[in-house]
Amino acid sequence: MGLENCQADFPVLERLIDGQRVTYLDSAATSLKPRSVIDAMSNFYSQNGVNIHRGKYYLSEEASDSYERVRYSIAQYLGAYGNEIVFTKGTTESLNLVAYGLGLQQDDIVVGFLDSHHAQLLPWRRAANLKLVNLNSDGGIDLDHYHELLKLKPKVVVLTHCSNVSGNIAPIEEMTIAAKEACDAIVVVDAAQSMPHPHLRIDVSKIDVDFVAFSAHKMLGPTGVGCLYGKSSRLNELRPLMLGGGMVDWVDTEGSQERKIPHRFEAGTPAIASTLGFGEAINYLKRFGEKKSLEHTEELTEAIIKGAMERDYIQLLGTKSTENRCAIGSLRIKNCDDLSDIARSLSDSYGIMCRTGHMCAQPIVDEQMGDEVLRISAYIYNTTEEIERFYQSLDELVSFLGLV
Ligand code: PMP
Repeated sequence: MGLENCQADFPVLERLIDGQRVTYLDSAATSLKPRSVIDAMSNFYSQNGVNIHRGKYYLSEEASDSYERVRYSIAQYLGAYGNEIVFTKGTTESLNLVAYGLGLQQDDIVVGFLDSHHAQLLPWRRAANLKLVNLNSDGGIDLDHYHELLKLKPKVVVLTHCSNVSGNIAPIEEMTIAAKEACDAIVVVDAAQSMPHPHLRIDVSKIDVDFVAFSAHKMLGPTGVGCLYGKSSRLNELRPLMLGGGMVDWVDTEGSQERKIPHRFEAGTPAIASTLGFGEAINYLKRFGEKKSLEHTEELTEAIIKGAMERDYIQLLGTKSTENRCAIGSLRIKNCDDLSDIARSLSDSYGIMCRTGHMCAQPIVDEQMGDEVLRISAYIYNTTEEIERFYQSLDELVSFLGLV
């Protein structure tokens, strides 16, 4: 699959807005969707559209089979068993499910990281005593501090594989080994930003993590569905977050019997069409391949870092090395108090879509940058020319606004 062909797979990139092509640099928020994913969902609604797991009739069984095939395809992608894949609404629900379901006590220690997303910080802070690992002076993870905190013998270690603001990729294999050796901690990985990249796929048959959370919509799939991988022994001990239809074998006036994993975590009617779209997204990513994913990410990352380093008026969050980094750049602009004005002008005058704010990771943004950032994030359909165009457009804007 060539990159040019890859762009042609994304219908939204054919759109002209006020005569301009779309330059989409907000994939860390959500990715664009290829035609095959859109078709899979539309096909379900036009050819089937019924509920799963409930009916003993052709259409329902067909829908159930397709749905369960996606579960097995995801399991295979991760090196897991089918019953270890729980469908959720996304990373946020997956992390909340684990933080709630482990039944921690308020004084249990959980070790997390300053560069985590709020979806990883808040559920653990509510459930237990959350201690955060700092960043080092280069803006990378302070592994010495991590080892120091492991001496507290945390019950759980919550890793973020790739930060959605710094783009840092954490050495999760090494960190998992350390957590197991120090205190046999339960290791929970937020893989929302890493799983979209085939070269960062976590193979759970090789890395001894207990839980992995991710969302379909960041990896070419639709919104409304995501996944929690859990080791079967861990899932068997986890309390479900949601109770209701579909997760019980029987109910009487006194009690009920929960179904086996993974179904006891999937109460209610799921996002069936979106799950089928998720399956197609995985197929697409498999075809894209690990080698190309790595090479392309490196090129985009280099373009992001180079563009920022070449300009005195830009401050870039995180390490300035292209190694162990994703194509995410969070920037501050000298003398600029309102980044949202810049984002609006980039969109209206240049067709460039990027994001401003704290990126749902306020502790690291506040600590490293003191205020909101403008974030660009690139993915498989972006080119280095688009990154260069972003910086050239920014040059024009900051000069026009008299900021430099
Ligand atoms: N973790 C990280 C690192 C993220 O980037 C995001 C999404 N921005 C989330 C968790 C939450 O994902 P979702 O909104 O799909 O639940």
